[in-house]
Amino acid sequence: MRLHRSLTAFLALALGSQLAATARAQAQAGPGGPAPAQAQSPVPTAPSLANADWTEPFPPFRIAGNLYYVGSKGLASYLITTPKGDILINSDLEASVPLLQDSITKLGFKITDVKVLLISHAHWDHDAGSAAIKKLTGASYMVMDADVPVVESGGKTDFQYNSKPEWLYPPTKVDRVLHDGDEVKLGGTTLVAHLTPGHTRGCTTWTMKVSDGGKQLDAVIIGSPNVNPGYKLVGNQLYPTIADDYRRMFKVLGELHCDLFLGAHGAYFGMLDKVAKLKPGAPNPFIDPDGYKKFVAQKDQEFHQELDKQTAAAK
Ligand SMILES: [Zn+2]
Repeated sequence: MRLHRSLTAFLALALGSQLAATARAQAQAGPGGPAPAQAQSPVPTAPSLANADWTEPFPPFRIAGNLYYVGSKGLASYLITTPKGDILINSDLEASVPLLQDSITKLGFKITDVKVLLISHAHWDHDAGSAAIKKLTGASYMVMDADVPVVESGGKTDFQYNSKPEWLYPPTKVDRVLHDGDEVKLGGTTLVAHLTPGHTRGCTTWTMKVSDGGKQLDAVIIGSPNVNPGYKLVGNQLYPTIADDYRRMFKVLGELHCDLFLGAHGAYFGMLDKVAKLKPGAPNPFIDPDGYKKFVAQKDQEFHQELDKQTAAAK
């Protein structure tokens, strides 16, 4: 309770009461965060407190080569710099935009150099700020085909989160519709969009090669492997292929080669622990192929447990 109130107070001071109200509403219910979303209770519960870190500023840092972390404590955003301008992955909440701008400035870059805007998937904690980022930068917004209707309706066509105002956001025009395997190229850097559906229909895992200290590293930024509370895997009329899509997603993730293990939330890859180990001369803690494999295997197991449970209950 106290933590939540102080966050709100901070935001009211730092960002203005309008943004704070949005942040408060958004922080109370969350898709894809580390904790389940339970927004109905008038008293803030543990899950809503867990989402308070979505709007908690976090010092930006270089992960490797031209790949930087510019997100908050709980919402991961990535800046990829090139001589021809920069790529931003995840615009996060509307309230996140000033935080993103601040992080990019602290690294010595300019948000106005962002030429391409990408997302992990079409949930408001990763894409609600996109309209504001586009306005600020004129960036070209590129989104996986199956997530485009959700992005362009401001969340209204999402199969799960379509009814509450705090789940919705400004509808945002997509400039380039991506398909599975498409490449996004800018200034000598290439990102590949892998369709990893289930969590959303167009959930996207991004991969890129990062040159770092003479080495070439494969970065994998996981879109989301989570089955959120309330997701219907069996008999889902609004998303009939959801279970098959999760299976496909785990197959794709299992086949990707990963050196740098990253994702849409820092909690996926143990960001806080790894940042603490980031020291000159020490091995790069984000190079974690084993951690990647373990995480994917654990999430695959969780998906199958939930599917078995729902299948048994449907009989
Ligand atoms: Zn999500």
